[in-house]
Amino acid sequence: MIKIAQVPVKTFLSKSKIPGVDYVINPYVGCPHKCIYCYAEYMRKFSGHAEAWGDFLDVRQCPVPLKPSKLFHTRVLISSVTDPYNPYEQQYESTRNLLKQLQYCQAYVHILTKSALVVRDIDLLRKMPGSKVTFSFSSADEKFRQLAEPGASRITEKIEALQQLHQNGITTEVMIAPIMPGLTQWKTIVEQTCAYTHNYTFDSLNMRPAYQGKVLAFIRQYYPKLLPLYTDIYVNENTIYWEQLSSEIEIYMAERKLDFSVFFSVNPTKVPNKKPAISGGLF
Ligand code: SF4
Repeated sequence: MIKIAQVPVKTFLSKSKIPGVDYVINPYVGCPHKCIYCYAEYMRKFSGHAEAWGDFLDVRQCPVPLKPSKLFHTRVLISSVTDPYNPYEQQYESTRNLLKQLQYCQAYVHILTKSALVVRDIDLLRKMPGSKVTFSFSSADEKFRQLAEPGASRITEKIEALQQLHQNGITTEVMIAPIMPGLTQWKTIVEQTCAYTHNYTFDSLNMRPAYQGKVLAFIRQYYPKLLPLYTDIYVNENTIYWEQLSSEIEIYMAERKLDFSVFFSVNPTKVPNKKPAISGGLF
């Protein structure tokens, strides 16, 4: 049972250190998507919650409206830490209310999500030139999605949502992240989505010590044959897997004339086509 609280805040805006982003807005703290690899889990302690990640949701509320004088033509990321379209957004409409204000402010909004619920706000996004929506995919396999991202939208729903956004003239992007070694069928994701976007970013699964044990336990339980590979990469710190993968991505994407960026944290000097990174909480 999820514990939901409405939490007052003085402001939604945080100044951003992310290249190309002026402000970040997180309408929620906590995420019922419950991704196994979620690094935003550190917010649990930070926000004083004892519940497990995914079992609490703070709906942030601010009585002070966003100021057009401050946000006119600024670039605003929603969200950097938790997903702005978790299933409870249907009920609380926090993200939608913020979008209405950002539309009024004429800000350029960049939405990061794993949820098809974003299509509800197509009416607003159509009136927000310069804005875009990025969907993240860690897999093309629905069984994996159910195990690793149990609260997020189904893969087919996300692809349909991407299609709808694209057909409504909204700029779309696909983030293939986190790439789970041996599990992320990134070519399939590209094939299934390239009719609806030409922009891709790739990022590896980065395991911080705080959740490495959890991810390795997940691999041991559901994909035991991959445990030696994960041990080699994450315990022995062998970088060959990422070096080979980045070369393969470069060739594959260039052949298809698709715009892409690779943000592997391992051996970045070998990564081609480097662009400013988006540092979200969605992977
Ligand atoms: S990775 Fe993103 S979508 Fe998944 S639980 Fe974390 S914040 Fe939510």
